[in-house]
Amino acid sequence: MTYLKKKTIRDINVNNKRVIVRVDFNVPCKNGIISDDTRIVAALPTIQYLLDKGASIILMSHMGRPKGKRNMEYSLAPVAKRLADVLGRPVRFAEDCVGEETAKMAAAMKPGDIMLLENLRFHPEEEKNDPEFAKALADLADIYVDDAFGSAHRAHASTVGIASFLPAVCGLLIEKEIVSLGKAVSNPARPFVVIMGGAKVSDKISVIENLLTKVDSLLIGGGMANTFFAAQGYNMQASKVEEDKLDLTRSFLSSELAERIQLPLDVIAASSFDANAEHIACEVGEIPEGWMALDIGPKTVDLFKYLIRNAATVVWNGPLGVFEMDAFAEGTMAIARAVADSPAFSVIGGGDSVSAVNKAGVSYRIDHVSTGGGASLEFLEGKILPGIDVLEDKYSYEGRRPLYAANWKMNMDSAKAAYFVDDLRQKAANTAAELVILPPSVYLSQVAKAATDSGIRCGIQNIYWENSGPFTGEVSSSMAKDCGADYVLCGHSERRHIFGETADMVALKAASAQQAGLIPMVCVGETIEQRQAGKTMEVLKQDIQASLAGVTPDAQVVIAYEPVWAIGTGLAATAADAEAAIACIRQEVEAMWGELAEEIRILYGGSVNASNIAEFMTCPNIDGVMVGGASLQCDSFVKIIENGEK
Ligand code: ADP
Ligand code: MG
Repeated sequence: MTYLKKKTIRDINVNNKRVIVRVDFNVPCKNGIISDDTRIVAALPTIQYLLDKGASIILMSHMGRPKGKRNMEYSLAPVAKRLADVLGRPVRFAEDCVGEETAKMAAAMKPGDIMLLENLRFHPEEEKNDPEFAKALADLADIYVDDAFGSAHRAHASTVGIASFLPAVCGLLIEKEIVSLGKAVSNPARPFVVIMGGAKVSDKISVIENLLTKVDSLLIGGGMANTFFAAQGYNMQASKVEEDKLDLTRSFLSSELAERIQLPLDVIAASSFDANAEHIACEVGEIPEGWMALDIGPKTVDLFKYLIRNAATVVWNGPLGVFEMDAFAEGTMAIARAVADSPAFSVIGGGDSVSAVNKAGVSYRIDHVSTGGGASLEFLEGKILPGIDVLEDKYSYEGRRPLYAANWKMNMDSAKAAYFVDDLRQKAANTAAELVILPPSVYLSQVAKAATDSGIRCGIQNIYWENSGPFTGEVSSSMAKDCGADYVLCGHSERRHIFGETADMVALKAASAQQAGLIPMVCVGETIEQRQAGKTMEVLKQDIQASLAGVTPDAQVVIAYEPVWAIGTGLAATAADAEAAIACIRQEVEAMWGELAEEIRILYGGSVNASNIAEFMTCPNIDGVMVGGASLQCDSFVKIIENGEK
């Protein structure tokens, strides 16, 4: 597995630097009048950040399709004016994006100056990703920032070529896209519901293929549903059906994941493709002769609303009907409101889907409305976007990424907890390791909130394996997930020895954690008696077998080796002892899970501190540590991370 995180403008020094930013100013503009400035406004956070940090800013974008020719219909000059208005400061305009005059203007810039270049696509070299053209753009500046998510799926000179000549990092808008879309598709809170619609199945085959393996329910509507129904043998009358996709659609319907697919229960059928056409709600098998399905029906709306209300993550791409005509917009509008009303983390991608949500007036209540139509689709397909791929990695790991977990046990208070996270954010901002905080569960929400977008992750110290019910005093995995946890400790030695948790209980807990989308951190370890009797390896093997029984093999699962005699006693295992025990654990995981064992991170825990950390971290099988007492002070935890990384 490769772990990757891209550098952003926050990770580099831009003071006194000339920064060239690829933005998406492809706004609707007729006769010099901009009818919608959403995209200009969306670029403001990055521009403002760079201004605050003392950079000078060169902005570049394409607009429309001038086909490599200078065509004033597509000039960005009106955008420079509008940007100056919304920023309340002057924006210079360069009448060509390259050339002597522009180079002179760039060279004369001072911190705080802003300049917008003329449409990149006036030069055919832009879309050809011509290296000389890319270099000419690069020569204007010291740093390249990509903030145009909508163009990140295209390998052009301003999105890909330029990155080979300058340090290249993400802007704040593109960072938000990667974080939000990534969160939805790689580690979704469950139930994970995806809604898909739009004109055609063919546009979205890869999205369906990729997401079907991950979702709990895939709700299908729009023109796309017609092809599914036709594949099931319904006569769809005059509805749009893709005859050449019937076999493929049948293969989705007969796959073992088919039960996740939810087709409409009824449709709105119309006599013709016309805003004023006669129309009725009916079942799919009852479309009148010669009529066509143009929207989902009221029963479907009710069912979809119910599933959306109960989801924890919702991703939506593609309108559910011909929403451009009011008569066939009801399904799409009702679903837009349902997504906005749902407590789920919601993400919307796709050009028409975004206009539909805007039309419903609810976009401000959606967690993330993607700015990239085609780019967000490719992201949902699981593709690597070339414009993001070329940006510098903050860290990248081939293999097991180090993990430092702070197990606070029953310590801290709410004020200290929040302060700790703010402090850690700053002091450990540049670590390549993964940091996980395990606060007492009552502080979980607060800690998770404080850690938003920091890369610091949270976990809960213990859960009960039932989802809900009469279990006074207990907390379930789904509740922990809901409060922002990614991890759950299962079978810490204190749980086993003070509270009598058995390996069977640990296995139930780990399985329930996975069910809820949490990652189990399974703890094992021997007592002093077992060690002295020479039974360490035997105990570890049994513990691993019993605790992982029922756990679905997954590279994300973490194991922690915690010799009971080294917890809270000040006695640490020697690095050699720990390495031997952990190597034995890895072998046992391999016996159960095969090659995946190479990817599983195994931590050491037990009286870790800033002085002994380096010895542990240099052992080949030890991938990180679980820190107890020394994790209660941010400075001492940071010191451990620093010394561990040396
Ligand atoms: P997005 O841009 O969000 O990815 P698409 O471009 O795939 O969405 O699909 C949007 C188009 O699908 C809309 O123009 C809409 O009118 C059309 N559409 C939706 N439902 C139907 C239907 N039942 N029959 C024909 N066209 C439909
Ligand atoms: Mg579209």
